Parts: sequence; C-alpha cells; structure tokens
Amino acid sequence: MTSRNRWRSVLFGQVPGAYNAGMRGAQITVRCDCGDVGYVPHGERWRCDKCGRTWNTAQIPADEYWGIMRDMRRLRITVIATALGLTVPIVALALILGLRLLLLLPVLMSFWFLFYMPRWRRQVRQRARSLRRWKLHPE
Ligand SMILES: [Zn+2]
Repeated sequence: MTSRNRWRSVLFGQVPGAYNAGMRGAQITVRCDCGDVGYVPHGERWRCDKCGRTWNTAQIPADEYWGIMRDMRRLRITVIATALGLTVPIVALALILGLRLLLLLPVLMSFWFLFYMPRWRRQVRQRARSLRRWKLHPE
C-alpha cells in the first residue's frame, strides 16, 4: 500500500458510519413506542421484535429525506475537494521545482489532521444532532 492510499483510507475512515452509505442513503433510526430501536433504509418497513408494531419509513417524504442525504454528501465532497486542492498544487509544483518541495506535505498534513478534520467532524456532528425527526404511525 502506498502512503497516498493509506492517507486516503484514513480520510474516509473519519466519516461516521451512518453517513457512509453514499448514494444509497443512510439508514433511518426507528424508535418504537415500546423503546426498541431498528435501522432501515428509507421506504422500507421495520417490524419491532418486542411488540410487533410495524413502522413504514415510506411515510417520510422522500424529498425531505434525500435533501438531508444531499447535504451530507456535500459535506463529504467539500472535505475531499479541499484535500485535493491542497495536495495537488504542492505535488505539481514539486514536479516542476524539485522534489524537495514534497517536504511540505507532512506540514500540510499535520495542519489537516490537527485543525481541519476536527473542525469538520464538529460540523458533521452538529448537523447530525440537528437532524429532523419524523413522527411515524404504526401500521
Ligand atoms: Zn416495539
């Protein structure tokens, strides 16, 4: 594994699991009246094992759900674009001006992991906390 690959997997590894589902959309957390919790993709039913109620996430308006998924994706894309925007110029300059410029990369990466990623994670967490809740009706 090259160091760049390693770095890339670290970058993606920072993304909380719930937002990792990509285009398919994250699973929805269903909290049953009895207190049990289930996770289902949007549009699917979940039957509570404890009390037998069935919850249908199709009751959630699709445009609201996918609007949130788009927001989450935008956050991820921003982080990847910023990473590329920082490294590509340095690598390109290094090819022109000499490989010694690559010594800047560790500096850049410490800045990235010490300042940028923590800030970004805070943003995502805040976003996750303020996520919409819907009230479903058991079927
Ligand atoms: Zn239940």
